[in-house]
Amino acid sequence: MKRALLSRLFLQIGWWFAPPRCPICQNLVRPFHICCECAERERSLRLAKNTASTQVRGMTSVFSRWKYQDEIRNAILEMKFSNMPYQAENFVLLLLSDRDAYTFIRQFNIIIWVPATRSKRMERGYLVPYLLAKSIARLTGVALASENVLQKIKETPNQVELSGKQRRENLKGAFAVMSAQEIEGKRVLIIDDVLTTGTTLHRIAELLTQAGAKEVAGLVLAESVPKMQKESMENVC
Ligand SMILES: [Zn+2]
Repeated sequence: MKRALLSRLFLQIGWWFAPPRCPICQNLVRPFHICCECAERERSLRLAKNTASTQVRGMTSVFSRWKYQDEIRNAILEMKFSNMPYQAENFVLLLLSDRDAYTFIRQFNIIIWVPATRSKRMERGYLVPYLLAKSIARLTGVALASENVLQKIKETPNQVELSGKQRRENLKGAFAVMSAQEIEGKRVLIIDDVLTTGTTLHRIAELLTQAGAKEVAGLVLAESVPKMQKESMENVC
């Protein structure tokens, strides 16, 4: 009880220094809310049932809140490439405003993020999947894995233009589980910002399962699927 109160107090203090903002337009908002101006657009970009349409082999499910397009796509790109690391917490607060997201995340024992090589981290200065994972762990109470569990040990060319087979070839030997102890027998949730073909998540799921994880699932902010069928808009006020 004391611990819960303390963590709530720390959250409040953190938000006093860095108040939550709407991830789309940067307006100040209350925690776990979106601004009135963006609410309708945000709703129209949600995926039905919070589930990615792409099936990732080796994963029991992949939770995705939005379609990777328009305002959501722009905000994610800005977060990654325009020196806006604080946007990770803003996205997580909005994600967790949905009770389903909180309930989904709480099923897991440990949270891991899709890692990058050291040189890539140095180049960008921060790693969005890690910032998302850290914020999700702090706000839900699910344990965050140490950096030792999963590492990216080989740089890979940009996957965007490659075929499925080339992507799989690309990822051979790219990731490694360095410390299996933390995940043995555990239900593991992998965090990434965007899901495209799912090749990366599939490769990571394979490695974690081989290393002894009981279950591996994924959570991304948004899913990018060119042939994505039009989703029915959720009727939420
Ligand atoms: Zn807004």
